Amino acid sequence: MRRIYLDHAATTPTRPEVVKAMLPYFTDAFGNPSSIYSYGQEARGAVEGARTRVAEFIGARSEEIILTSGGTEADNYALKGVAYANERKGNHIITTSIEHRAVLEVCKFLEKRGFKITYLPVDEYGLVAPDDVKRAITDKTILISVMHANNEVGTIEPVEEIGKIAREAGVYFHTDAVQTVGHIPVNVDELKVDLLAISGHKLYGPKGVGALYIREDTKLVSFMHGGGQERKCRAGTENVPAIVGLGRAVELAGQEMGKEAERQAYLRDKLIKGLVEKIDHIRVNGHPTKRLPNNVNLSADFVEGESLLLSLDSEGICASTGSACGMASPEPSHVLLALGVPREQAHGSLRFTLGRENTEADVERVLEGLPGIVARLRAMSPLLKTQQ
Ligand code: PLP
Repeated sequence: MRRIYLDHAATTPTRPEVVKAMLPYFTDAFGNPSSIYSYGQEARGAVEGARTRVAEFIGARSEEIILTSGGTEADNYALKGVAYANERKGNHIITTSIEHRAVLEVCKFLEKRGFKITYLPVDEYGLVAPDDVKRAITDKTILISVMHANNEVGTIEPVEEIGKIAREAGVYFHTDAVQTVGHIPVNVDELKVDLLAISGHKLYGPKGVGALYIREDTKLVSFMHGGGQERKCRAGTENVPAIVGLGRAVELAGQEMGKEAERQAYLRDKLIKGLVEKIDHIRVNGHPTKRLPNNVNLSADFVEGESLLLSLDSEGICASTGSACGMASPEPSHVLLALGVPREQAHGSLRFTLGRENTEADVERVLEGLPGIVARLRAMSPLLKTQQ
């Protein structure tokens, strides 16, 4: 049975072109970028080439890019870096209740150390209201962090408007763009952000590599102390092959992003329409139009998301019940709860995220398989019986 992978928000396969670009940096060109002889300079050139590609892709300058171990590190660095560098100015940070744990857990950490965090609510579609951001700003606010698009429900946030508000108030603005870079256009000037997090493995690059964009003159404390790499912001010998892979992945995304987004949005809409037609008692989570081109998120009544997932897996279809980056948890998704989805429905949620290799035939297979699975599980469900 051919397996169908529909969990690209969790991770993407590394493209063969990316692997090919990385390979020489494990063997022939293995030098340490800090060494001044030719092996080192070869590696240095590769790192700087990748940095330039990442910078150009988001409309930044290469000096504004710090290479990290991924999206989590980039988010950690942005929040902790700004918090500790600006604590004399203020101790207030504004974020939202639907951020990834890479932001929310950092906020909790900072809260225990005296910072005050405002967690803004979202509407039923997962949108943050720019006016709420404006109202939450005080003279102690040092940072606003609002994700570009949500990893679970795919809602694209009004980051540009929030950026304008942040700039007018003189407050730093960070966005977690892990789910958007490589998928929809991202430009740091248009979005008016000061900090932006990127992850390699969400855009067909390798795992364990990412980047943080830091606008010139943004005050941050260093994230790692040691050898002074990455302009003393993030010490440690660079992961040269992974960085090269990130650069190549970004380059390829730049060539294909527009038409891929269009193709995936067509498949997304077909999948949503088909499932809504074929299955009773389901709701689509997230915004109808302000939505990532590859995201389908729905909740079905009277079934458990995990049971749906396992049944789909036995038919060769890989999906997710929510954020796959977190630890398995019996708690329903914090994102769905923030959207106002009732707990029982949130338990029956399923996320499909399309990717480059998915075709219309894959969508057809889900449309053929899922209605039967839901019907079978509902027939056995105590949840349904209590409703009758
Ligand atoms: N932020 C968002 C929105 C994500 O979806 C993820 C991963 O799923 C991360 C951050 C963490 O990125 P990484 O896996 O590169 O640490």
